[in-house]
Amino acid sequence: MNLSNCPQCGKVFVNNSYNICPACIREIEDHYRKCVEFLRKNRDSTLYELSEGTGVSVRLITRFIREGRIGAKDAPNLMLPCESCGELIKDGSICDNCRSKLSKDVRHLHEDERRRTDRNNHFGFGSTYMKDRDKFGK
Ligand SMILES: [Zn+2]
Ligand SMILES: [Zn+2]
Repeated sequence: MNLSNCPQCGKVFVNNSYNICPACIREIEDHYRKCVEFLRKNRDSTLYELSEGTGVSVRLITRFIREGRIGAKDAPNLMLPCESCGELIKDGSICDNCRSKLSKDVRHLHEDERRRTDRNNHFGFGSTYMKDRDKFGK
C-alpha cells in the first residue's frame, strides 16, 4: 500500500490519482459544486465575486479553471490572474504585458546563445574538440 501525507490537511492516506486524501477530495468537490451553483445564478460574476459569494478561495477556483472544470461557457467574465503580475486576463496563464516582456527575455537568451556559437565556429576549436572526444569516449 502506498501511503502519503495529504498536502491539504496533513493526514496520512492511501495514495490515489488526486494525491490528496478522500476527505479533502470531498471538500474540493463540495467547493466545486458551490461554484457551479453560484455561476448558474450569477453567470456574469468575476473570479472575486465568485470567491466571495461561495467562500471558496481564489486559488482553488483558479485551479478549477486551469483544469478546465469551469470554462468560459459557464462564466464569460471569469478571468484568471496573470501568473506573473496578478492582472486579470481572459485566457492563457500570463497577461500580454508579461508575455511581451517574457518573449523579449527569450530573444536575449537566443542572442547570447548565437554569440557563443559564433565564437566557437570562429576559432573552429570547440566543435573539433567535441567531435574527437565523442569518438574516443565510445
Ligand atoms: Zn486531506
Ligand atoms: Zn502579467
